[in-house]
Amino acid sequence: MSFRNRLIEAGRLVPLGTPGLYGRDGTFEAVAAGLEALITQLGAGERTETLRLPPGMSMAAFARTGYMRNFPQLAGTVHCFCGDERAHRQLVRQLECSEDWTAEQRASEVALVPASCYPVYGLVAARGPLPEGGAVVDVAAWCFRHEPSDDPMRQQMFRMREYVRLGTPDQAIGYRNAWVERGQAMARRLGLNSAVDIANDPFFGRAGRVLASGQRDQALKLELLIPVGDDQEQGACMSFNAHRDSFGHSWGLRTADGAVAHTACVGFGIERLTLALFSQHGLDPADWPPPVRAALHL
Ligand code: ATP
Ligand code: ZN
Repeated sequence: MSFRNRLIEAGRLVPLGTPGLYGRDGTFEAVAAGLEALITQLGAGERTETLRLPPGMSMAAFARTGYMRNFPQLAGTVHCFCGDERAHRQLVRQLECSEDWTAEQRASEVALVPASCYPVYGLVAARGPLPEGGAVVDVAAWCFRHEPSDDPMRQQMFRMREYVRLGTPDQAIGYRNAWVERGQAMARRLGLNSAVDIANDPFFGRAGRVLASGQRDQALKLELLIPVGDDQEQGACMSFNAHRDSFGHSWGLRTADGAVAHTACVGFGIERLTLALFSQHGLDPADWPPPVRAALHL
């Protein structure tokens, strides 16, 4: 039986009738909570501030992230009914006749968060220049990406935990590089085989291929890969991203001495890490090696 079907049969994932949308059971959530706590423990620091976000962000902030320029194929925006009673009667008729009723839905002021760190830059920039020493934000949100797939590792709505570092060039890249080591140590502690490799984001179109190869050439994005599922395919479970001064420029972020800030982020895919643990150690955490259970407080 496939890994996906085993997860569903055991109840860990509950398919919700469209590719890449699942409910999770209590066992899945206990593992996810253990991961969240371990990530908190590993990232704790004097400078770290915590921010938990809803799955939506303001359309204005979303437009400014550059996401529609780079990844329009993945983005999701919230659309709502804004018509009068006549339009509503038509809507009900269309529903009753199983016709398309969505054409009149209008864009709202909310976009779905595509990565947890996107709302952070504007929020921090609005405070004025960074303090001496810069900032570290521990952020989490449910994220949306329109990439429907039957692979449980590629969901449309999933949790992304991130640490975002904002400061000087050395602070940003130093933090990113420290987490490459820390991320591998975390995987070892969880009994997971892993490898780090250079990666690129799925930039859209022909111009996007140039951006992607530039990103690879400069090793701006690294991923922690863990073999998961039937074919032990490498799944990207963490990413370590250097943005240089691109968000600093677009959000007017300044360091304490007035220079354009550099930023970096570390992303943890909570669903992918949880699935990697089920794939490696089995579907019942009661059977997992004691050190792994202990690391996750299970
Ligand atoms: P991929 O290359 O597989 O599309 P990514 O490297 O582009 O993923 P990031 O943008 O770096 O992903 O996001 C940070 C983390 O969020 C990833 O390391 C992964 O664990 C998780 N993630 C990304 N996309 C998905 C998805 N569709 N379903 C589940 N988790 C995801
Ligand atoms: Zn990020």
